[in-house]
Amino acid sequence: MKVLRDCGSIVAVLFLLLVSCSTVPITGRTQLDIVPNSTMLAMSLQEYDTFLKSHQLSSDREQTQMVKRVGERIQRAVEQYFAQHQLSRELAGYGWEFNLVESDEVNAWCMSGGKVVVYTGILAITQDEAGLATVMGHEIAHAVAKHGNERMSQALMAQMGGTALSVALAQKPQQTRELWMTAFGLGAEVGVLLPYGRLQEEEADHLGLIFMAMAGYDPNTAIAFWQRMSAKKDSKSPPAFLSTHPSDETRIRKIKALLPEAMRYYTKPR
Ligand SMILES: [Zn+2]
Repeated sequence: MKVLRDCGSIVAVLFLLLVSCSTVPITGRTQLDIVPNSTMLAMSLQEYDTFLKSHQLSSDREQTQMVKRVGERIQRAVEQYFAQHQLSRELAGYGWEFNLVESDEVNAWCMSGGKVVVYTGILAITQDEAGLATVMGHEIAHAVAKHGNERMSQALMAQMGGTALSVALAQKPQQTRELWMTAFGLGAEVGVLLPYGRLQEEEADHLGLIFMAMAGYDPNTAIAFWQRMSAKKDSKSPPAFLSTHPSDETRIRKIKALLPEAMRYYTKPR
């Protein structure tokens, strides 16, 4: 599949298609963005409802509370960061929710609009609250950096000739839904797996570390989490999460390089 990664080199094409770009907070990268936020939010809500109806919420109260607690702390950090940088409008229409679903699958994701799902299968690897904050910070970073919009835009450009999402949905509903699920890391559900792009992964690590630090979780603990995740790579059944978030030494080295910056945002909770 031809993936359009670079906004700059395809400006002429984009112009003809009346395609727009937007800017990622914190990193300032320009990204392809042809899907209106309102459409993404509406589709998120619908897919999120469908997902919750077909999956069982965890009955473990303590773990469920932990997911909600960590999620809310990261939500506050994101809102604070966006307010400090006059970006609060980017979070308009968000209705944050944090759910733990019963599933052996090692996975977690955050859809547009702040709908976060953690699978019980990933808790063995997150191990504690800081580990969970690493995953949730990372997934929430993908959402607020609009990586889902970007992947959906790239997919619409590459596979449907730049068709508007609403038109694609009307004409090829199943194919469009599958692209959408893949764009948000639910690809395992439909048997289509595409990793996030390298730049998107680096951005999610970068933003995620800052958000977890602002939420009062020591960003240094992210290293141990990614090392545990990396160890799963060679196991008999590598997690779906690793298909969309490859974990390797390069990633861990880059996270280490980001730690001094992230630590400037960290205040130990009293
Ligand atoms: Zn990721």
